Amino acid sequence: MSTVVDPPEDLLASLRKSAFRPSRTRGQHFLNDPSIARRIVEAAGVTNRTHVLEIGPGTGALTRHLVARAGSITAVEIDERLARVLREAYGRYDHVDILHGDVLDLNLSDLVESSGEAELVLVANLPYGITGPVLDRLITYRGGITRAVIMVQHEVGGRLTASPGTKAYGAITAIMAYHYDVASLFRVGSDRFVPRPAVDSVVLRLAPHDRPPVDVRDAALLTVLIKAAFQHRRKMLHHAVNRLAPGSAGHLSDRTGINLKRRGETLDLGEFAALADALRDYRDNPRDHS
Ligand code: SAM
Repeated sequence: MSTVVDPPEDLLASLRKSAFRPSRTRGQHFLNDPSIARRIVEAAGVTNRTHVLEIGPGTGALTRHLVARAGSITAVEIDERLARVLREAYGRYDHVDILHGDVLDLNLSDLVESSGEAELVLVANLPYGITGPVLDRLITYRGGITRAVIMVQHEVGGRLTASPGTKAYGAITAIMAYHYDVASLFRVGSDRFVPRPAVDSVVLRLAPHDRPPVDVRDAALLTVLIKAAFQHRRKMLHHAVNRLAPGSAGHLSDRTGINLKRRGETLDLGEFAALADALRDYRDNPRDHS
């Protein structure tokens, strides 16, 4: 089987002739380098047993590689015009479904269910405006998603792979690290896109952990604690824990050995987990600590 299924012609060039103007607000920076498109699809490990969810197929830079490899594809494009030309190009393939709409309105539970035995893999050159909500959905649906290979702004990639104590380390770093193994694969220069964006991008692979990397009794409380710890980055941790459970700081510090004069940005995931367990215990048995 060929590795590329070409649309009848260069979609972007033909759209341009008919006065199509890429939209900045929709993050329409189209990948213009076939070798990078190929590397992204290869990194996604797509086979005929894969159901691909592609977010924002645009002018088909990734889609054309996916169509030849995937068992099935659901591609969701918010731009009516792009969705139409993609349907014209790929409508003849039974295994390709081009949906016109906002991917944030897509019912992911249904998609996970309809994937059945097939693995569900997200592949996307993400429009930067929806990166946060897409990461939230990856967390919510981690049980149904086999992996994700996504291109994001370089700075976002730096945040998702940052180490404790660095400027880039934040709540999203620690929360994603609890749910996913996040690997930074390669950087893509801004000159590889049309129109050219202001910043470079990076391709990430996210694979949900079979088992979380740290044990914690209440994963929801871990998330609440991490968010609280980063809400005021410059403040010492005891402010955050006392906000969550008034008067708990002394107990939590004794129980975990963690100095709560530290700032949240210095804690690794294991330390957050230890604090979350102590906080759970404090909340469950408040009288034991009075
Ligand atoms: N995949 C193409 C590529 O690699 O060249 C296009 C990527 S471009 C960065 C992002 C695409 O996502 C655009 O085609 C844009 O119209 C689409 N898009 C933006 N917001 C969207 C949303 N909420 N739901 C679905 N598609 C969206």
